[in-house]
Amino acid sequence: MDYKSGVIEVADGVYAWINENCATNAGFIVGDDGVILIDTLMTPTLASKLLTVVKDVTSKPIKFVVNTHFHGDHVYGNQYFLPAPILGHENCRIELDTKWDANLSRYWARETLRPELERINKTLPDVTFKDQMSIWLGDREIRMSYHGRAHSDSDILLYLPNEKVLFVGDLAVNKTIPAFPDGHISKWVDVLSKVEAVEADTFVPGHGPVGGKEEFREAKDLLKLLNDEIRAAFDDGKSEEQAAKDVNVGKFSVFANQDRIPQVVEMAYKAYRGELD
Ligand SMILES: [Zn+2]
Repeated sequence: MDYKSGVIEVADGVYAWINENCATNAGFIVGDDGVILIDTLMTPTLASKLLTVVKDVTSKPIKFVVNTHFHGDHVYGNQYFLPAPILGHENCRIELDTKWDANLSRYWARETLRPELERINKTLPDVTFKDQMSIWLGDREIRMSYHGRAHSDSDILLYLPNEKVLFVGDLAVNKTIPAFPDGHISKWVDVLSKVEAVEADTFVPGHGPVGGKEEFREAKDLLKLLNDEIRAAFDDGKSEEQAAKDVNVGKFSVFANQDRIPQVVEMAYKAYRGELD
């Protein structure tokens, strides 16, 4: 899928770094005396590229690093931005710590990544919060909030109320079927329905291009459609395999990563059976 990638200034001093092919995005916000970095990507190579991208825009130091959730493709680069404090939801610290091996083994399956993954040291958020916390860069507020389990148990929103920009991590992805290794589909739909009310004109997803209100709504509609379709299959007593074949994503069939549907079904069935927290 072709879309605008690279560094995109979405508001004055507010940057999205958008990867191609729906790979992992990051972002950064430049204030009067420092920078907030949003996610650190997966490998040493990507983390150093990200650092170069920031340095090309500003010579100001990185004051804070924020982790949008615990998945390795968003946070394995943490160690390269020390000694900046790393902020995240309290569950991000817990999930990154306790699910370290399972998380790493997902990426380990890709053999070419192994030399990079071997260099990663566990680097957890060292400043955590429960419901909401704000960072101030001069007069600019960056409001971080948590709304419950969704894509993982540690997804946060970063909201810039003055600029009406939302960084959402993988809570909402754009133009792709979401990854579901830790997703709880019905809770996720609830969270997105709740946060849809946030007044934002621009949203920076964890994967895919920068979007606006409409694309944010699309992310929710897709998830709701998946939940409705899979729930009906579950209630009809269909096998997971059959359900995955029968799911009809309609207009979203042009989205990337359609091969994730079986994983969505598997996790949705677990959620319906009450096997997820
Ligand atoms: Zn994720």
